[in-house]
Amino acid sequence: MVSRVIPVDSFDLVIFGGTGDLARRKILPGLFRRYASGQMPDEGRIIGAARSDMTCDEFRTMVKEAVEEFDPKSAKDTENLEKFLERVFYVAVDAMGDGGWKELGDLLRPDMIRAFYFSVAPSLFGTIAERLKTFDLADDDARIVVEKPFGKDLETARALNKSLAEHFHEGQIYRIDHYLGKETVQNLMAVRFGNMLFEPLWNSQYVDHIQITVAETVGVGGRGSYYDTSGAMRDMVQNHLMQLLCLIAMEPPAKFDPDAVRDEKLKVIRALDPVEPHHIVRGQYSASEKSASYREDVENPRSFTESFVAMRCEISNWRWAGTPFYMRTGKRLKARTSEIAVVFKDAPHSIFGAEAGVHRNVLSIRLQPNEGMTLGVTIKEPGPGGMRLVDVPLDMTFAEALGPDAEEVPDAYERLIMDVIRGNQTLFMRGDEVEAAWAWTDPIINGWTNRNDVPKPYDTGSAGPDDALMLMHRDGRRWREIKE
Ligand code: NAD
Repeated sequence: MVSRVIPVDSFDLVIFGGTGDLARRKILPGLFRRYASGQMPDEGRIIGAARSDMTCDEFRTMVKEAVEEFDPKSAKDTENLEKFLERVFYVAVDAMGDGGWKELGDLLRPDMIRAFYFSVAPSLFGTIAERLKTFDLADDDARIVVEKPFGKDLETARALNKSLAEHFHEGQIYRIDHYLGKETVQNLMAVRFGNMLFEPLWNSQYVDHIQITVAETVGVGGRGSYYDTSGAMRDMVQNHLMQLLCLIAMEPPAKFDPDAVRDEKLKVIRALDPVEPHHIVRGQYSASEKSASYREDVENPRSFTESFVAMRCEISNWRWAGTPFYMRTGKRLKARTSEIAVVFKDAPHSIFGAEAGVHRNVLSIRLQPNEGMTLGVTIKEPGPGGMRLVDVPLDMTFAEALGPDAEEVPDAYERLIMDVIRGNQTLFMRGDEVEAAWAWTDPIINGWTNRNDVPKPYDTGSAGPDDALMLMHRDGRRWREIKE
């Protein structure tokens, strides 16, 4: 199979915060990979803009070192790396003041797609948007890309939307949720809407329940002070898990176009029932022999912030009434894995008798570590001994199915940045979607605060607090094992 790389038009991409952690780890190495693959045109330019006073050459050295550190394999292509660095520029810009903006304007070329990536703290979004207009750097075709977190509740998200909307229209604003850039997430839509096989079964008549798990083995790391004001609900559920839930649950859009898809996702969020307190479990990781506790990590001995959350959700619409959606996410868990599992109902009658056991079809969609899908089907166990049934996986792991081409599957960030240049907003969150998601999560978080809810401790390397297991046991179901 030959992979097709369709080059994008020439562009000037300004990365505010170009010297920051996210730019060095994800954005710049990702752009290099797109360049090396031939997708980024020779005329494309990347302009770092940050507070540090450094020359263009110093920034190029920083970019080179970032690629070498975070993608050593790609960095071996030194010929392309040198050519890529010629496409990289730097201007010191003070987002809060007037310094550097004119110099930035002088670097930008007319008649070229302009994109501005706000890889800075959200408190700077409004002021950068305003200065882009004041210094006449962005016309009605320019795009801005904003990072998470997009607000910390409905009120702050609304204020953020309002401050951006004063200078840019919705069609120019690209709110990144990198989960949407993952190959498997897009494949989920291809599988659902490109095949006759699944969609007729995709409803409460045939689906028993759905599980969404995003498990991490790491703790809060160096993000402790931020994380402790956020917690798993704000950091993971309100954005990534809810986006996954929307894509699984939405009605088929009439076409694969940004507003058609986002309209359907929004309808799902609006149909979500409020979550009853007994349908949600919060947890906080304890110390192990090798690692510190959550409270030690965030240096807050009285922290009540959750590093784990599990919940049972219901969608009140024609398609899903009666099919629960279970979601869980947490840090310091048993394995690093992200999976959506669609668990189908039992066959209505077993012609093989009770001894054949109960077998269920499960469609497992894995986002990491190895992206792919597996459909569990029941077959006869080979050999003599009567009609014994076993479950076998129909494995669609992309790395195996696509061979060497799978290695060229772009990482989520680079794919999304190319979509910004193309002007395609399908995989970005619309302002009303983000607000609707906060409107659903706010009462849950406020409930915890009002009740002085204390998260349950759980062991590092476990599957979370026992109460999370009970959440499903009470319904006669069980979580899938957390494994890589
Ligand atoms: P960082 O602190 O490492 O970098 C911040 C960048 O902003 C630096 O380049 C700094 O020079 C620049 N900056 C700060 N104040 C400025 C000013 N007044 N004028 C001009 N530039 C200024 O932060 P980061 O980790 O790269 O995160 C950037 C954004 O991305 C944040 O909104 C963060 O929440 C979000 N984000 C980060 C990650 C990650 O993995 N690092 C993941 C998801 C989202």
